[in-house]
Amino acid sequence: MSRLYTQLVSKIIFPLQERLKKHDTVRARRSLERSQWLSPEQIAAQQLAELKTFLIDIGLHVPYYREAFARIGFKPESLQSLADLAQLPTLTKPLIRDHAEALKHEHAGPLGRSSTGGSSGTPLQFFISLERVSHDVAAKWRATRWWDVDIGDREVVVWASPIELHAQDRVRLFRDALMRSTLLNAFAMNEKNLDHYVQRLREIRPAMVFGYPYSIALISAHAKKRGVRLDDLGVKVVFVTSEYLHDHQRELISEVFGCKVANGYGGRDAGFIAHECPEGGMHITAEDIVVELLGEDGQPVADGQPGEVTVTHLRTRDYPFLRYRTGDVAVRDTRRCACGRGLPLLREIQGRTNDFLRATDGTMLPCGAFTYLMRETEGITNYKIIQETQLLTRLEVVRPGGLDQATRQKLIDGLKFRLGREVEIQVELLDEIPAQGNGKYRYVVSKLQ
Ligand SMILES: [Zn+2]
Repeated sequence: MSRLYTQLVSKIIFPLQERLKKHDTVRARRSLERSQWLSPEQIAAQQLAELKTFLIDIGLHVPYYREAFARIGFKPESLQSLADLAQLPTLTKPLIRDHAEALKHEHAGPLGRSSTGGSSGTPLQFFISLERVSHDVAAKWRATRWWDVDIGDREVVVWASPIELHAQDRVRLFRDALMRSTLLNAFAMNEKNLDHYVQRLREIRPAMVFGYPYSIALISAHAKKRGVRLDDLGVKVVFVTSEYLHDHQRELISEVFGCKVANGYGGRDAGFIAHECPEGGMHITAEDIVVELLGEDGQPVADGQPGEVTVTHLRTRDYPFLRYRTGDVAVRDTRRCACGRGLPLLREIQGRTNDFLRATDGTMLPCGAFTYLMRETEGITNYKIIQETQLLTRLEVVRPGGLDQATRQKLIDGLKFRLGREVEIQVELLDEIPAQGNGKYRYVVSKLQ
């Protein structure tokens, strides 16, 4: 019965809903499910051809790019390889803000408004077309099916972005019920009500769990502490996204739910960039998104080197995201994945550039650099490191047993060792550290520019 219902939703209800919204999702997904098996060379050739069409179109019809291409004498029809992209300017959040209208295609179809949560400052407002929405939904749907789960299978979503919450009207609730998707609010989660989250999971018995790694790890740790099993519910996969996924979180979630954890990488602004397959490959949605990794000098980095993820979304002609800088850092993986898909791979997505702290000698320290120090200090259940200025860093820490002088000093020394001797470290003991306004959790935050 359950499988039949999934088929009903996946084959009839969801496609119908998408058609009513004028999304071309079903066709896009079928096409993606074919192209994923092409060879890397075929995929690259297809990408280059589509990129050229995209650039010719926006060079003619998008005022911002018509002007930008003319200024530098760029002729889209002469594009020879992906490397030619480097001639073009990158797009940043402030540029989108300043040129909101000039970025619209002259013959754009209906455009919806969208925005990012704004974890690093003011939220970004931008426009999205139906074509783009269809492709992003289709890419997510394809990745879901890699794991033998489908739209319509029972799902628990641990999420709380403000945009999602505002959308909690009756239509949305009805749709969620139809799709057998249950939202558990990640933002309302605290030590006192975690039993409720564990209980809901046991009642719902979802095929998949989706959400922030931090929140799902918190639920996992709680279930483990209470001795409540979650590995007998039939959960096939836990999808996590939106934050850096720490190894210890992956291990804990996997152990408690008795299944693999699949990392997804993307954003409302950048699109559905990459997703992990059961063989562990983080596959780029290369049919729709061109990924460049840029060094601090703005030039592409060599393979194996970390660079800022910069995306060109080929389904954004109506409101182009061309060489859009995400602020995230990743490394290209040149291996071929064992699953046989020809889609290229990313690895080591190190989170946003402001998830790094800068030592006084200029070293960029990813949040992982602090994990060990915090984990080897017994009794710490949560922490957050905030770099206020180059010479002042605050550590917020939760340690139910309190914080004695020796432990406090050990933490200060450890942080100074990494950040620089001259840095002042302030340690603050808290009962709980709330997630940010958008429900996401970050272990390190830098306020340096
Ligand atoms: Zn794979």
